Order: sequence, then C-alpha cells, then structure tokens
Amino acid sequence: MTNKTMMQYFEWYLPENGLHWKRLAAQAEALRKAGINMVWLPPAYKGAAGPASVGYDVYDMYDLGEFDQKGAVRTKYGTKDEYIAAVQALQRNQIAVLCDVVLNHRMGADDTEEVSVVEGLGSNRDQDITGTHQITAWTKFNFPGRAGTYSGFCWNASHFSGTDWDQGAKRNGIFRFNGKYWNRETDVENGNYDYLMGADLDTDNAEVIQETREWGRWYQDTVHMDGFRMDAVKHISFDFCREWIAAMQQHRDAAQNPLFLVGEYWSKEVGRLTHYLDVTQRSLSLFDVPLHFRFLEAATSNGHFDLARIFDHTLTGVDPEHSVTFVDNHDTQPGQALASFIPDWFKPIAYALILLRPVGIPCVFYGDYYGIPHDGIAPVKQLPRLVKIRERYAYGTEHLFFDDGSLIGFTREGDEEHADSGVAVLMTDRCGGKKRLYLGPRLAGRRMVDALGSIPGTVEVGADGWGDFSVNGGSVSVWVTEPAGEYLYLNF
Ligand code: CA
Repeated sequence: MTNKTMMQYFEWYLPENGLHWKRLAAQAEALRKAGINMVWLPPAYKGAAGPASVGYDVYDMYDLGEFDQKGAVRTKYGTKDEYIAAVQALQRNQIAVLCDVVLNHRMGADDTEEVSVVEGLGSNRDQDITGTHQITAWTKFNFPGRAGTYSGFCWNASHFSGTDWDQGAKRNGIFRFNGKYWNRETDVENGNYDYLMGADLDTDNAEVIQETREWGRWYQDTVHMDGFRMDAVKHISFDFCREWIAAMQQHRDAAQNPLFLVGEYWSKEVGRLTHYLDVTQRSLSLFDVPLHFRFLEAATSNGHFDLARIFDHTLTGVDPEHSVTFVDNHDTQPGQALASFIPDWFKPIAYALILLRPVGIPCVFYGDYYGIPHDGIAPVKQLPRLVKIRERYAYGTEHLFFDDGSLIGFTREGDEEHADSGVAVLMTDRCGGKKRLYLGPRLAGRRMVDALGSIPGTVEVGADGWGDFSVNGGSVSVWVTEPAGEYLYLNF
C-alpha cells in the first residue's frame, strides 16, 4: 500500500487563459512521479463570471465549457473536451480525481421575477426585520445558450428559499422567500447559516431533490470521476447532503470502488464537524479546519504556542479516519474571503505534520507547491521532497514525542514493504535543540541523514533503537536512512 496524497490542483489567481486543463493533462505523469495519487479539481461548470470565474458562482452545472454562455464557450480552465482529457490523463497515471460540487447556491440568473419576501437580520437570520413585501429577484435560469441539451430543467423562484439582492430597489439584504424557511439542519452561526450567497437552493423542494440527483448522475456518466469535494456543506441541509451522497454511491457500478467524498465544513470548532459526521453517518470525510487554525496560532505566537497540543481539538485528533488535512487552500490564501495564510517559516513544519504521520489524508495546496505569482509568493521549497518522503519512506509504527511545549518529534519505524523506509522528525517553534527519539528495532544500527539538509552529518541509531537528533531554530528536520537521503538528494 502506498500512502494517499491529495493535491488541490488550483489556487484562486490562476491566469484566466483557459489553459489549466491542458496544463494538468501535460503534468499528469509528473504528478504521479512526484508522489501525488489523488487530485481535487476546481468546479468545472460555467460560473456567472464566465471565463473569469473560479467556479463557485455556479450558473449552469451542465455547461462544462461547451456552450456559448456568460461570454465564452470555455471556462477559466478550458473546454469540456480538455477537462475530460485531463481527467483521463490523471486516471491513466493511477491518480484518483475528485470533482468540486457546489449544491448550495446559483448565480447569474437569466431573468428576474417578482417575489414576496421577508427580510431577516444579517447576524441573526431567524429575526425578521420587515413584514412581507415584493422584491425583484434574479431567480429565473433558462440557459438559452444551452437550449435544453442534456436537461430541460429550468430554475425559478419556487426552487430557492432566498436571495440577497433586490434588483428593483437596488439593495442588498437577506431576503427569505415568503412561505419558505431556512433549513434547520445547517450551521448555527448567524442564528442559522442556510443562506450563504446568490439564490439559495430550497433543498426541501421535491424538484430540487430530483434535479440535483439527475445532474449528479449525468456528471458521473460524463466525467467518470473517483469522488467529490463538497463545497460549503454547513450551509446545506445535512439530511439532503447525506441522501444526495447515497444516491451518487448507488449510481456506481458494482465493479467500481465507492466514490471518495470530502466536505468543506468551515468551522474552527471540532464539535461541529463531528456532529456533521454523525448526522451524515460518516458517508464523507471533512477537511480538518480546526487543524489549519492550530497551525495559524502556532505560527503567529512568537514561540509561545504549546506544540505538544497541536493536534488537540482537531478532527485528526478525534476522528483521523474521516479527516483530510491541509495547510492552506484557495480560500485562505491572501486576498480571499477566509484569508488566514500560514506564514512561510511554519509551512515546512505544518507539512511535515500532515504528510509524515499516519493520520488523515493530506491535501497539498497548489499555491504552496508551485507558488502564487499574483502575490509574489514563492513555492515552499521543501514541499516536493516532503511529498516524496511520504510516498516512499513514511511507513510503519508511529512513536510520538509530543512532550515539550516548543520541541516535539515523532518517528515511523518503517516496514518491510518499503525499502529504506522509516523517518524521524523533529521540529521547534523556538531555538534549536536536541531530542532522543525511539525508532524501533528495524532501524537499529542504521545511519540517518536530515533529508531537508539543514543539519549536516549523520546520526546512528543505537542497538536499542534510540537516536539523538537535532533541529535548528524555528524549523523542522526530517531524518531518513542514508540510501533514502541519497535518492532524495539525486532526484528531488
Ligand atoms: Ca443553503
């Protein structure tokens, strides 16, 4: 078994030149050789901003860059054919493909309707601040550019429960459609967080339930992906999501593996995440958002963070089987809605923690691997090597040495299946130091080197399986066997 490593293959500010799918197809083999075996792709359907859309302002989910809508045939990333070719190139390289699914909202409607609404308070959506009145809402989606191809379904106000823009008065608000209610089974932030943006899907509506399933089946039959990344799940009825996932799994052939699903539930509170997993019967994993914020706190506390508790109150800490770990993503990068970018110096430490331990499935951010030219952000230079160490050497029993507030370590004993495997990892958020770490009997007598190259020389593991390792200030050292170090030095 090879460790699973996901890459989020996009960042917010990719060029709007339509070349992304082509680049991905050309890179598929290089990604496999780098140690990536799962890739999460951005939303592939036409957004309201057309070829400038990152994809979350969903307009037409049947338009994967095939119809002249919103200013172009292609999306920001390319055409439908290029998309499917990229997916196939990845799968030929044994890389599983996760497609991004946005079921919460729609934007860029073709026409308006007069709708009777009640306005609610932004900070408490359950509190009405007006009586019933009419607004002009963008809720009619007829997709004239697609003209019924694949599906004749058209959306109107009856399929939505609210919106945030009155075209008549030209003003923003939280407008709940009269006779509709925000869904109870969503997040409790802002009183009730069913509403996020755009025209909010009414997931109690039978036509909405049927249409989202039909689309999902069409999408599977068209793209043959291996799984989904579910956007904004805390804003969508938990029951609706669980049932949608069940319908998608049902559509798989018996011969296929089940779909792998990971949801974005953006909350620092691990209790909200585990509640979601309970309600959805663990039919999907979640991104470990609390861990991202532990990293941010550790990186911005001037060495006063207790590193021994870095995994406390995280999803990886309480339910590693359903945790997808990450350091940053397209929302946390500078300039974005949830901007909380992990500072440079801490990135290698954070990546060592998610890539080299046996808990969770790590997701490497494109912007960290390749850099973010838009903001002058360089790639994390240790990252390709850390991903490779995960693929080849981070195996076997784990020993944790989380016994100090500023100098912690962990080891993997290695196993018989992976030649020269076994690692010892040491990290600090303060001054450099030394620590005795136990690697087990397999590596007794072996010499280890720091694969990240900051500590010169070798450390010999004693006959008792223990070794004395060191690390420089504010950094991480990753010790591998000598032949492993030589391989990495020559190839990465
Ligand atoms: Ca919603």
